[in-house]
Amino acid sequence: MVQKNLIDGEWIAGSEAFRSINPSNTNDVVGEYARASADDARAAIAAAKAAFPAWSRSGILERHAILRKTADEILARKDELGKLLSREEGKTLVEGIGETVRAGQIFDFFAGECLRLAGEVLPSARPNIGVEITREPIGVVGIITPWNFPIAIPAWKIAPALCYGNTVVFKPAELVPGSSWAIVDILHRAGLPKGVLNLVMGKGSVVGQAMLDSPDVHAITFTGSVGTGKRVAAASVEHNRKFQLEMGGKNPFVVLDDADLSVAVEAAVNSAFFSTGQRCTASSRIIVTEGIHDRFVAAMGERMQGLVVDDALKAGTHIGPVVDESQLNQDSDYIAIGKQEGARLAFGGELLQRDTPGFYLQPALFTEATNKMRISREEIFGPVAAVIRVKDYDEALAVANDTPFGLSSGIATTSLKHATHFKRNAEAGMVMVNLPTAGVDFHVPFGGRKGSSYGSREQGRYAAEFYTTVKTAYTLA
Ligand code: ADP
Repeated sequence: MVQKNLIDGEWIAGSEAFRSINPSNTNDVVGEYARASADDARAAIAAAKAAFPAWSRSGILERHAILRKTADEILARKDELGKLLSREEGKTLVEGIGETVRAGQIFDFFAGECLRLAGEVLPSARPNIGVEITREPIGVVGIITPWNFPIAIPAWKIAPALCYGNTVVFKPAELVPGSSWAIVDILHRAGLPKGVLNLVMGKGSVVGQAMLDSPDVHAITFTGSVGTGKRVAAASVEHNRKFQLEMGGKNPFVVLDDADLSVAVEAAVNSAFFSTGQRCTASSRIIVTEGIHDRFVAAMGERMQGLVVDDALKAGTHIGPVVDESQLNQDSDYIAIGKQEGARLAFGGELLQRDTPGFYLQPALFTEATNKMRISREEIFGPVAAVIRVKDYDEALAVANDTPFGLSSGIATTSLKHATHFKRNAEAGMVMVNLPTAGVDFHVPFGGRKGSSYGSREQGRYAAEFYTTVKTAYTLA
């Protein structure tokens, strides 16, 4: 059965369909999905525009009830939805279920936020005048998401968009339509009026582009590659629309001489290789001071021996497959580039065969890398990391910040002085002390600096900044 697009409250088949394939077993077709056309995207935008006046004035209890019901259903179905996620994306079942729970928590959080919408009332600078500051929805929000968090990223964009009274046109990544279809289905059944949330699955160059080109899309929130992010930015400036971008990372993880070795190794392995290294907050630059360097590398090698790379759905798997063939080729290319550049491949990097045909790669660790190498400067987006040896904390901090990106930055140290200095001086939106660079909460701001992000933060109360516009009203008493 082909899962359809949702446009103006109707499930629409369209003329074409595409298949989603399980990267752990390429013989397994996860599902078939209707491929939206540019006309479908325009119809979805028109529906969202027509639905906006009523939804923007809808009662907070109506919005609260729909988001709450959605949270409840996602959490009740976490095992089934988590399995679907792991089948379509390739992260392990534990990670897939964990991400699904997080999506439920996000809907729960924003259900609560509907009830806390507030403004400010202040006296004017002039006598007998009152000033009110309120937040209003923006209008039609275009949501474009990547494949690496198939349910959490759609959740953290859709939930606040609806909570604050916007209508939505949502385009998920083509590789992972299943989780997106599932949450749209849940929201639709939870009682959203027609046109408030529209789903258009399909190609970025067709459906995504139609959204970028429409004057009726008033804001776009995008997570994906730097190249596409630049297109979103250029088109949005052209249309004078609000936009928010989350793009690449090249996140550093610093290990100091005084680190607890087991804490450092656990955090580094998690940062670099969990979720197959396919997280924008993953660390692929491990910056290690010389006093602990050799012990750290040896302990990493030992820890990496124990990592089980296999079918994402199998119990006991630590690292699932790479998401698809083109990503696997990119990872392999970077492993070859690292060797050519003179880094030493200390562990892993081989393609693996398992019981089922899939895109299996042994996590790779380079040593003797420098921060000038391409493997240290460009986002690989796979289970490939490089150790860079430095003299001391000052050099470690300088190397950590010497990157065009600035999403997340981690340090392993038992020194309060260095931890405090690092938190203050790391050029990143998120800083982690004795924790992996990835793995963030759902109720606090998420986002980066420099080339990683543009616009205001996502998630938590800070999401209001993007999904609303501020009005200042003056009244003569
Ligand atoms: P990734 O490398 O993670 O696939 P992309 O930037 O290619 O990153 O994709 C992220 C999202 O952007 C996907 O939903 C994709 O379909 C969409 N996309 C790709 N090209 C365009 C485009 N020209 N306009 C709008 N969206 C696009």
